[in-house]
Amino acid sequence: MFAIYCPTRGSNVLILPSDIIALRNTEHGTEVHLTCACTEPAVVLTGKRAGTTRVLRHGVPEEASAA
Ligand SMILES: [Zn+2]
Repeated sequence: MFAIYCPTRGSNVLILPSDIIALRNTEHGTEVHLTCACTEPAVVLTGKRAGTTRVLRHGVPEEASAA
């Protein structure tokens, strides 16, 4: 269980084990695919190799340019 910064809510939100969809080990650390507390999909990088837990992606990429 850990907290990430959610840009939709503008604050840190708690990620529960039940929010986690998948884990993927990469050379940069462990990618955690999850559903954020705001219901948007997100990808977080964590683990020893990552150094610090940070959000790689939040929300659906396709709507990145939507006004
Ligand atoms: Zn969020």
